[in-house]
Amino acid sequence: MNGTNQPILVLPEDALRQKGNDAQRANITAAVEISEMVRSTLGPRGMDKMLVGSTGDITITNDGVTILNEMEIQHPAAKMIREVAKTQEQEVGDGTTTAVVLAGQLLKKAGGLLDQGIHRTTIVKGYRVATTKTAELMKEFGQKISLSDTQELKTIALTAMTGKGIESSKDELAEISIKAINYIAHQEEGKTVINPDDIQIEKKQGGSIADTELIKGIVVDKEIAHSAMPKEVKNAKIALINAALEVKSTETDAKISISDPEKMQAFADQESKMLKNLAEKVKDSGANVVFCQKGIDDLVQYYLAKNGILAVRRIKESDMEKLSKATGARIVSNVKEISEDDLGEAGLVHEKKIGEDKMVFVRECKEPKAVSIIIRGGTEHVVDEAKRAMDDAVLGIASTLELSSFIYGGGAIEIGVAKKLRDYASSIGGKEQLAINAFAESLEIIPRTLAESAGKDAIELLVTARSRHETGNNEYGINVSEGKVDDMEKLGVVEPTKIKVQAISSAAEVAEMILRIDDIITAGKSSAPTPPPGGGMGY
Ligand code: ADP
Ligand code: MG
Repeated sequence: MNGTNQPILVLPEDALRQKGNDAQRANITAAVEISEMVRSTLGPRGMDKMLVGSTGDITITNDGVTILNEMEIQHPAAKMIREVAKTQEQEVGDGTTTAVVLAGQLLKKAGGLLDQGIHRTTIVKGYRVATTKTAELMKEFGQKISLSDTQELKTIALTAMTGKGIESSKDELAEISIKAINYIAHQEEGKTVINPDDIQIEKKQGGSIADTELIKGIVVDKEIAHSAMPKEVKNAKIALINAALEVKSTETDAKISISDPEKMQAFADQESKMLKNLAEKVKDSGANVVFCQKGIDDLVQYYLAKNGILAVRRIKESDMEKLSKATGARIVSNVKEISEDDLGEAGLVHEKKIGEDKMVFVRECKEPKAVSIIIRGGTEHVVDEAKRAMDDAVLGIASTLELSSFIYGGGAIEIGVAKKLRDYASSIGGKEQLAINAFAESLEIIPRTLAESAGKDAIELLVTARSRHETGNNEYGINVSEGKVDDMEKLGVVEPTKIKVQAISSAAEVAEMILRIDDIITAGKSSAPTPPPGGGMGY
């Protein structure tokens, strides 16, 4: 009651607002639609999408994230789905299409339940229970694996590289990825720990994929600082310095105003003496190779060269850390304090021209805790694909070893888990049971989609696969090249348990977020178009 009969306007008159069922429907429809769009790209037989930009530029890809990123998406719920793909990509590097397809299916099934008059609170609750149960089941279905199971790890790397247009070289790349992992893996509290960042994957166009090389050490994309320095040093004693080998700072500290020419000369002499000193300090430590994160004065370069020391300047901080891990050198910030104890070692340091550029190789490190892989290939497209394939292989193995567990792909795990979830649902009863069953059915969108991609009757294959699982054959899934139900162990379709668990939980999470929204208000400031995730617009 505001005394007059005028309505109070909280929102501008032209604001659009959808509430309750309308809002929910709109969100579900948008999310389902976007997920349907990428669904046909799933698996090795997935189709490509051609994306045409506003300027007519064309991207052809079957990568879920790329498609979602390149597409101009309007609807906020559809944008939330795109975020799932991004998160999945960032966190585990694979399983993005799976996550998006699953999120869409969960929402589609939720729509069906809403139609039957089931409250969304019940659906959300059922989905949560199912997510937790699924994670448990995944781990139960998971097969044990460790760093020494080289053959199995290779199969995982190969599956991870599926669909990356480099079929003929997959074997070599997989082997390289495993060797690299073996170098950088270490034990912490009885667990194998792998930090994928310890493997630096550089690409350089030129040569062929077969020239791709694992360096037992690090490659630095820089040239040697001075032409008079050696181009090659054997039995390298390496100094890592993160301060400038210059005297700029003292110059300003001293604050002397020079008026007479004699003083000028004295000052210049003083300066060159200090520079010479810097070079001497390095030499006295016993170093014959220097990597400097900052600049190196010309005069210092000259003195280093005179002493037969190879130096490289302006090294990235991240490369300094890798050099330290590879060679065992300690990064020194005060050159005056550098000593033999700070130095690292490598059998060979040399400069080599790769493609168009010169690079410095630090090789034959004794026990490198960081290594480089340098990817080669004839065209930019090939190098890019090979790099992506290598990333996937490394991340796939790292994720596998993180849980020491892998599962059978090709839809096998989804069929297995769905079956157990249904059994579990009937033990719970009530309306929540319906939601858990819907969750189980949603998981089966993966084998169904794979069957469709093989051009087969999906229902028929799914029924056959289910009956295989009934008799305890948990490794049966969809053989996409022959369009039949088959043994995934035999076919070598194996995936990290972690990636699957992550894909399913992020799909469930976004589905829940979208289900909880009951009000879409289009009157936001243009900087905040997306509804806040899960933002208190509760039941
Ligand atoms: P995502 O972005 O989810 O990783 P992919 O296009 O890589 O999508 O497809 C992954 C799915 O394809 C997984 O379910 C995986 O088990 C399945 N898959 C991979 N290789 C094969 C194969 N050779 N046969 C059958 N299914 C496969
Ligand atoms: Mg994949």
